[in-house]
Amino acid sequence: MTTATTVSGVAVATSAADLSERLDAERRAGHRVGMVLTMGALHRGHASLIARAAAECDVVVVSIFVNPTQFADPGDLTNYPRTLESDLEAAGRAGADLVFAPSVIEMYPDWPTPAATTVTVRSLGDRWEGLSRPGHFDGVATVVGKLLSVAGRCRTYFGEKDFQQLTIVHRLALDLSLPVEVVGCPTVREADGLALSSRNVRLSPDERAAAVCLSRCLAAGAEAFRSGGDRAAVESAMAAVVEAQPLVDLDYAALVDACDLEPADPTTGAREPSDRPLRLLVAAQVGPVRLIDNCDPRAFP
Ligand code: AMP
Repeated sequence: MTTATTVSGVAVATSAADLSERLDAERRAGHRVGMVLTMGALHRGHASLIARAAAECDVVVVSIFVNPTQFADPGDLTNYPRTLESDLEAAGRAGADLVFAPSVIEMYPDWPTPAATTVTVRSLGDRWEGLSRPGHFDGVATVVGKLLSVAGRCRTYFGEKDFQQLTIVHRLALDLSLPVEVVGCPTVREADGLALSSRNVRLSPDERAAAVCLSRCLAAGAEAFRSGGDRAAVESAMAAVVEAQPLVDLDYAALVDACDLEPADPTTGAREPSDRPLRLLVAAQVGPVRLIDNCDPRAFP
């Protein structure tokens, strides 16, 4: 069936109709579809998602789309790395069979006029990243809803690296009855602990060295948590690590319930989660780049 072309051994579809038709044919042949959504500039973190999809599914599609509606900062959108050619190769090497690389007009036919229909995930989308990046999660939820509805029934793989996004995608799939299974995958890190991110390439050598304080902040929070600290103690241990680093400007360092992302206190009150899932979240500005990271305080580093 397809009008997809092949580049670096990977089929490339640029229209939603092509993608949908091709994946329908795969499902008719009894194949399980795996899907990984990305904005490109692929690194080992993305590759781990693609490899997991390839291990668990018969056909793997990777979308590469720098979604303009999720960028609160126009400079961030302009400077976002775009490396389609090497991405096709990296996607193929990691196990992708097909890349979906639509244009902005393919995804938003009225662009730059805003679409009339958007998706808002209330409450989960309002806090943390949502506070500092207004509209960000509406853009994310809308494009994820669109891409997954074009793809159809599939298993879709998201990184824990973007933990709030992962939580929102779980909620979105449930609330919109999308025929997808959402799978969360562990964060891939550099040897010194920095979480891989497409934005890391924009850090100067000094900023790159300073950025390691985000994972150290998580380690300090996890240690404070495991030695019985309450929320204030955990969060101040986290903040102290980042605040000691002059090149890094802390936005938040928080201990939250991993399900609803509300602040959680492990020692008191109604939210007393002796085995309830918890998460440490951190966000900071490092030079021109906003970085985020998170971990399970019971299992880090
Ligand atoms: P992005 O291209 O940044 O939108 O990310 C696409 C997908 O890759 C999302 O599900 C991210 O959470 C995931 N991802 C990004 N960085 C990492 C990482 N270091 N480890 C694992 N997954 C990641």
